[in-house]
Amino acid sequence: MRRKTRQIHVGNVAIGGDAPIAVQSMTTTYTRDVESTVAQIYRLEEVGCEIIRVAVPEMEDALVLGEIKKRIHIPLVADVHYNPELALEAIRQGIDKVRINPGNLLNGRKSLEQIVVAAKERGVAMRIGVNSGSIDALDKRAQMQRIQVRLRDDGVLERTDPAEARRKEREHLAERMVTKALEYISWCEELDYHEIAVSLKSSAVLTAVEAYRRFAQRSDYPLHLGITEAGTLVTGAVKSSVGLGLLLADGIGDTIRVSLSAEPEEEVPVAFEILRSLELRNRGVTFVSCPSCGRVEIDVISVANEVEKRLAKVQTPLHVAVMGCVVNGPGESRDADVGLAGGKGKGVIFRKGEVIKTVPEDQFLDAVLKEVASLLPPHEAR
Ligand code: SF4
Repeated sequence: MRRKTRQIHVGNVAIGGDAPIAVQSMTTTYTRDVESTVAQIYRLEEVGCEIIRVAVPEMEDALVLGEIKKRIHIPLVADVHYNPELALEAIRQGIDKVRINPGNLLNGRKSLEQIVVAAKERGVAMRIGVNSGSIDALDKRAQMQRIQVRLRDDGVLERTDPAEARRKEREHLAERMVTKALEYISWCEELDYHEIAVSLKSSAVLTAVEAYRRFAQRSDYPLHLGITEAGTLVTGAVKSSVGLGLLLADGIGDTIRVSLSAEPEEEVPVAFEILRSLELRNRGVTFVSCPSCGRVEIDVISVANEVEKRLAKVQTPLHVAVMGCVVNGPGESRDADVGLAGGKGKGVIFRKGEVIKTVPEDQFLDAVLKEVASLLPPHEAR
């Protein structure tokens, strides 16, 4: 059961309530480089990104947001730190949402209130993003705990169970994050502004999970889930899958971003895969392929990778299987919309449970793609 949240709107995308869990990403270009930024956003749109965030570190970046907004097809979010003038300019430029951490805005509450007034006037949504890093930096207790850990390591203080100490520290940090987020929300509510989503990110998976769970018990504002600075493609995908998976399986989360030290176009398929695995979204290809083993009779790894790559932009929900031998191949392939079951340099192609034909290995890719195309609407089959 999904947590019941209030619904907000980011441009034409609804977040929260009964809206599908939206997938978002962030550009890696310099925002002021409009051509590169727009080109990257187009690539992200092609793989299904539904909301895009851009960094706004300087006024030069803020001043081009209107131009970017005009040229793209998905809602635009401005990511602003420290300087409220950047957020105010971004709102003037017609963005759909502003992402701020009120804790690091110059003049704190006063600046937040100025941004809220401007956002309210223009129907712009806001994400209040509280990161564990920014809380930690302010947190005297966390500093004390680090000193205590060092003293214990040096044998000056008696040792405690390290797992228990970490759990306590995690709970304390998560609670501080939630308390801060609720305080910032109350400042917005005093101005009768409610178009708010909240994120409570941390690079430590269990800290983020703890913070989101605590917040979900105390507020109905929609949650933007993410594990921040999660790492490279494999590390980040695994950390995000575990963290976001735990929360989504509990019904928590209204929009997600998978952060990777990789091209942002790589983040979106990972996000959709997480949502498909939990049957929360069914967009695109659900892909089944065997890992290969000593029984394999075709080059299943190359075929599987190539098929997956070639179908990355498909939006129609489809099951595709690529299997290496006769042990599990026919069963999985028959259950898929399109399947390939390998055997001694040949492969049997299935479509909707029926055997279509047997093809030699050099025709696997074309045969699978052709059957997939036959099941797609004309605009996607091209
Ligand atoms: Fe091995 Fe065949 Fe299973 Fe693939 S389908 S893992 S080749 S037994």
